[in-house]
Amino acid sequence: MLIDSHCHLDFEDFHHDRAEVLRAAVACDVRKIVVPGISARHWKRVLYLHGEICGVQLYPALGLHPFFLEEHREDDLQILDQYLQQYRERVVAVGEVGLDFSRKTDKTTQLSLFRAQLELADRYQLPVILHVVKAHEQVIALLKEFPEVKGIVHGYSGSLPQAKQYIRQGFLLGVGGVITWPKSDKKRAMFAQLPLESLALETDSPDMPPSDIRGQRNTPAQIAVVLDKLVQLRSESRETIARVTTGNVLNLFNSDV
Ligand SMILES: [Zn+2]
Repeated sequence: MLIDSHCHLDFEDFHHDRAEVLRAAVACDVRKIVVPGISARHWKRVLYLHGEICGVQLYPALGLHPFFLEEHREDDLQILDQYLQQYRERVVAVGEVGLDFSRKTDKTTQLSLFRAQLELADRYQLPVILHVVKAHEQVIALLKEFPEVKGIVHGYSGSLPQAKQYIRQGFLLGVGGVITWPKSDKKRAMFAQLPLESLALETDSPDMPPSDIRGQRNTPAQIAVVLDKLVQLRSESRETIARVTTGNVLNLFNSDV
């Protein structure tokens, strides 16, 4: 059984064939999918994508994504707070949140939005799903103020020493289609040597497709391709990598169903 720990199944890209996409995922052994919300207008749809649909267990997460800073409004944090309270049984994480310093948006605003969402995660005892681009040092420093908050650094793009700091903080590192890309030698070397107990498989669908479907829409079924690549890179068997990475994600989200 495999889990896609990061899939934007709520996006319009899947409106015309969501059921088909889920059935194709089941055919590749993907039985659980975490669906992170990126902005307030997405939350209702994300919340709707919960429970078992077409043989896949869906897990919603709610957050205000740093990449879409311009979209967020002042009262969104308050609404997020209300939703986390109201849908506490359904929501598995606060996410997708974090810092994206490749964006020209104001860093101070990004930081205060991120901090406020870490506070919510802390208060509701939920893990976080992090989006971090060119800001790993800042995120690692900020996480030290929230020792109880665990999570996943999705689509991990940092260095090996930074990975070790995240792991010490109790974070998993998301590995996706990027490890199949021709220019990803450094990432392949890193994911080959990180402890298996710290890895989570993800697709980031509809984005970040593996190299063999470059330019096309990514889907959760591609988790199998990410797994196959990881098997090539590492010494453990396919079964072990599947079992351990699945267990990592289930433990984090406190789910054994
Ligand atoms: Zn995402």
